[in-house]
Amino acid sequence: MNEQAMVLIVDDTATTVAILSACLKDNYHLKTARNGEQCLKQVKLSPQPDLILLDIEMPDMNGYQVSEKLKADPTTSHIPIIFITARLDVEDEEKGFAHGAVDYITKPIHPPIVAARVKTHVTMKKQKDILERIALHDQLTDLYNRHFLLNVAKQKISAALRHQFAISIMMIDIDHFKSINDQHGHPAGDSVLKAVAKVLKKEYRDEDIAARFGGEEFVIILSHCDLGNARIKAENLRIKMENLKPLGIKMTISIGLSQLENEQDSFEELLSRADKALYHAKQQGRNRVEIG
Ligand code: GH3
Ligand code: MG
Ligand code: MG
Ligand code: MG
Repeated sequence: MNEQAMVLIVDDTATTVAILSACLKDNYHLKTARNGEQCLKQVKLSPQPDLILLDIEMPDMNGYQVSEKLKADPTTSHIPIIFITARLDVEDEEKGFAHGAVDYITKPIHPPIVAARVKTHVTMKKQKDILERIALHDQLTDLYNRHFLLNVAKQKISAALRHQFAISIMMIDIDHFKSINDQHGHPAGDSVLKAVAKVLKKEYRDEDIAARFGGEEFVIILSHCDLGNARIKAENLRIKMENLKPLGIKMTISIGLSQLENEQDSFEELLSRADKALYHAKQQGRNRVEIG
């Protein structure tokens, strides 16, 4: 919440941009765009704005059209938009809200009103971001949680089937974790989980999803990765974990693998096969990788 928010000002009139910039520059990072096209480019750049002030009357693409495009794109649809307009009758207002605006600012611009409206909506956006983060992440390890994994898995699987690429999953379980807790205490057990999560975060690319699936169990979705490659990655990971010795504690993991086989396959079945393979790895003596 302490980090300064980013506001994107979109207006074809230089004086309006100057007035808005002047009243916001002390409290926000600002970006500006002079037309819809520039706006649509700007929002894609990182860091994305937390709020967009969008002029309605602009040549080429008007504010409503820009807003429609922003709302149709899942990478920008979450950014709140405040429309800036010279005229505001009830129909305009209704139209704006129908196009996804959260609020209005009318011209001529009164800086204290702008400051107040922007502050309200930036605060709400930041709070929403925090809640979303909490809802999708595991508190102890900061990895994604099971809820997020199950949701994203569906999307990953349809993308893999559509674009014909391989997907594998790894189910990882810490060996004899109960005795780590018993011997070293629950807080030490927590530190071991955090250390394992840190390795997982470092090892996997953004397009792979590493999640804490349960107590001492983790699942990783590997995109563009068949069983052969998954096996190599899993074996490397197994060795890394064996050498990790968090808090000086000897620790190993077992891994079960599976891959998406055909259009009839589902994530539930992938999980079930990985789980069986993991069970097999445990039965075979632990600290092993098995394929399901
Ligand atoms: P195996 O090799 O067969 O997997 O044996 P295990 O002892 O790892 O498996 P078991 O399922 O018997 O025990 C898992 C333990 O994980 C029990 C539970 O208390 C512990 N655990 C689950 N969540 C947490 C947590 O958040 N923190 C800590 N410290 N321990 C946890
Ligand atoms: Mg204009
Ligand atoms: Mg275990
Ligand atoms: Mg377990």
